[in-house]
Amino acid sequence: MAHCVAPDAEAVLDREFPVLDKGFVRLVDYLGSDERVVQSARVSYGAGTKTYREDAGLIDYLLRNRHTSPFEQVVLTFHVKLPVFVARQWIRHRTARLNEISGRYSVMNDDFYIPAPEDVALQSTDNKQGRSPDVMEAGAAEKVREAFAEGQKKAYAGYVSQINGGLARELARINLPLSIYTEWYWQIDLHNLFHFLELRLDAHAQKEIRLYAEVLFDIAGKVAPRCCASFKEHVLDGVKFSGAEFVELQKRLGTEGGRARPCAPGGGDIPPLNSKRFEEKLKTGRQT
Ligand SMILES: Cc1cc2nc3c(=O)[nH]c(=O)nc-3n(C[C@H](O)[C@H](O)[C@H](O)COP(=O)(O)OP(=O)(O)OC[C@H]3O[C@@H](n4cnc5c(N)ncnc54)[C@H](O)[C@@H]3O)c2cc1C
Repeated sequence: MAHCVAPDAEAVLDREFPVLDKGFVRLVDYLGSDERVVQSARVSYGAGTKTYREDAGLIDYLLRNRHTSPFEQVVLTFHVKLPVFVARQWIRHRTARLNEISGRYSVMNDDFYIPAPEDVALQSTDNKQGRSPDVMEAGAAEKVREAFAEGQKKAYAGYVSQINGGLARELARINLPLSIYTEWYWQIDLHNLFHFLELRLDAHAQKEIRLYAEVLFDIAGKVAPRCCASFKEHVLDGVKFSGAEFVELQKRLGTEGGRARPCAPGGGDIPPLNSKRFEEKLKTGRQT
């Protein structure tokens, strides 16, 4: 029952995992591991860790049944360097604790994000929130990158000149672009990290934050490998069906009768099956 030591996590403590062109994620510390989840889940029965197979089964059970509090017993602290536009999406996750570098106290570093050529793309025509999957022609992409670099250089020169002129740092920084890098310590428990990852590993999330989420997930897998495997199986790789979709699925499998078509409370209309979305889900497993 002593302090949990996860050997794979120990091996990566303090190591910077690069993300984007200048960012990184570093595991600063962790508390608990798979064992802590099972210990805390079994506290009600007074029994500690059993065999690996039984523990794995219990973790699967907890995850499938959304018995989430034992996962909150595992806590991870990360040091992250990330562009401000990624930080703005990240900060929407309120169930973490963080401390960020202060642009009022320190001079911001001359570190800006420029997307790699293969990440420069036009606006998507069918997704208002995203970019086209097609890569831009190399020359055009290079021009975009050069324009970003030029704007960043100009903005940073203006910033330094204002600071040298004696302007307060808290004011000098306000013309810096969203591409500037910031840094923070971010501490979150495993349950809430899973929620973050479910949203930010999804194909709908912007690629830049997705890349951070992938590294966070890899690191979490070193701290609590069995929990992460279960989360992948039941949440990331799982597919949810609406009431109408489930009825259609039963019809196709010839298993009708097990569950009646659900009724909306008060007898309101239930949305009909959206066949296009359903077929797409069956084909790709993507939740749309
Ligand atoms: C692909 C994508 C696109 C997005 N686009 C936009 C956008 O255009 N504009 C925009 O503003 N945001 C956008 N968001 C942010 C999104 O709306 C959520 O704010 C963000 O994902 C955080 O989710 P959350 O609130 O579930 O997470 P957390 O803040 O981590 O909260 C986790 C859970 O805790 C509970 N919780 C936390 N705080 C409270 C509270 N105060 N009251 C009640 N319950 C609480 C909720 O159950 C919540 O689901 C987008 C997110 C994604 C993934």
